[in-house]
Amino acid sequence: MTALYTRFCRSVLFPLHERLKSHSSVAQRRALEQSQWFNAETLQAMQLQNLRRFAATIAANVPWYQRLFSEHHIEPASMTLDDLQRLPRLDKPTLRANTEAFKSRVANKLARFNTGGSSGQPLIFFLGERVSHDVAAKWRATRWWGVDIGDKELVLWGSPIEVGTQDRIKNLRDKFLRTQLFPAFDLGESGIKQFIKSYRAFRPAHLFGYPSALARVAAYAKQHHVDLKQNELKVVFVTAERLYEEQRALIREQFGASVANGYGARDAGFIAHECPEGGMHVSAEDIIVEILREDSTPCRPGESGEITITHLRTSDFPFVRYRTGDVAALSTQACRCGRGLPMLERIEGRSTDFVFAQDGTAMHGLALIYVVRDIAGVHSFRIIQHSVDELEVMLVTTEWDAVRDQQVIDGMRARLGQSVSVKLNHCAHIPTEANGKFRYIISHVRM
Ligand SMILES: [Zn+2]
Repeated sequence: MTALYTRFCRSVLFPLHERLKSHSSVAQRRALEQSQWFNAETLQAMQLQNLRRFAATIAANVPWYQRLFSEHHIEPASMTLDDLQRLPRLDKPTLRANTEAFKSRVANKLARFNTGGSSGQPLIFFLGERVSHDVAAKWRATRWWGVDIGDKELVLWGSPIEVGTQDRIKNLRDKFLRTQLFPAFDLGESGIKQFIKSYRAFRPAHLFGYPSALARVAAYAKQHHVDLKQNELKVVFVTAERLYEEQRALIREQFGASVANGYGARDAGFIAHECPEGGMHVSAEDIIVEILREDSTPCRPGESGEITITHLRTSDFPFVRYRTGDVAALSTQACRCGRGLPMLERIEGRSTDFVFAQDGTAMHGLALIYVVRDIAGVHSFRIIQHSVDELEVMLVTTEWDAVRDQQVIDGMRARLGQSVSVKLNHCAHIPTEANGKFRYIISHVRM
């Protein structure tokens, strides 16, 4: 329960605490609202200054970087972007094998997280100071769309576990943040109807959720001639998956509001947000985005490659040249909105399939991912739904026993149906897709 409570604190109580005490998120957001209008040159100078401060801090306090900087003869206080590019890229196996060496000796209030992430391999990592930065960056982007913290927000999100503590979260959020949480895991017909009922009663100014989940609601409304348009609704924020243009069009048409995409991940941070002119602006003050080829050389502007992140507000558990596994290109254009923040384009590579229970209930794929992810000893996994009656779980494990086999089977059956055949396939390695991307869930069922 400790991890759950920590997650609850991190995701809800801490930001709330920050807001109530008007601490660093508020100050950071104000500063970010100034700097977004700086020109590219000024922003680069500011980023370099932040890089040097960050590098000096981690060289002094984080064993991993103390060693790495000295091996590469890098002087943190005068570090350049070229120096940064001489450091090796950081991948999940390295982080996994050296977790303790990444912790700052002077860190306090580090919260433990784990994620299936887009790689499908569970990763344990720690978050500290950057939470307030990411809150501030998201908050800035929210205001681009004429909505603010405190405006009514309906969130279509959540894990089965979070839904278990939902009443507590819901009460708190309702009371202080005017945010209502609706679980995204049961989006069969009755789930969609309930969501629409909540949406109509609550009349939010903004919606937030997975594009696939909101597109399902929109498709249902279209098919059944349900009118979702409400004057109060200004914008629909989507994130965590690739947003397909047909999903954007469907959501916009049915809800009668603009769709704003966000790109980020729990491990990599909130990286880019879409502005009303359509630019995916990077929070470049504190996040250095490199787009790299497979051989680690930089892509030209406009050329697609792997998104690699250095997050300058992670000095208590640094993410330096962290490989996200996602693909995009750096835009060569300036945005019509006038902000100097650089932009990403053609973000690809994230996809989460819906899965279907035996009774036809549609569920977000994360509902199954959480079953496997939270069991100790899982190194990586892939879940393949061959049919509504047949599921395969590929597992690479470090330590394992029959009890955990049964846990996986029981967890899958609890969600999909008791007579589903669950085949466990223990293997040494799970191959990536042809495009190099690791998909952690694949469903061949279409309904
Ligand atoms: Zn813009």
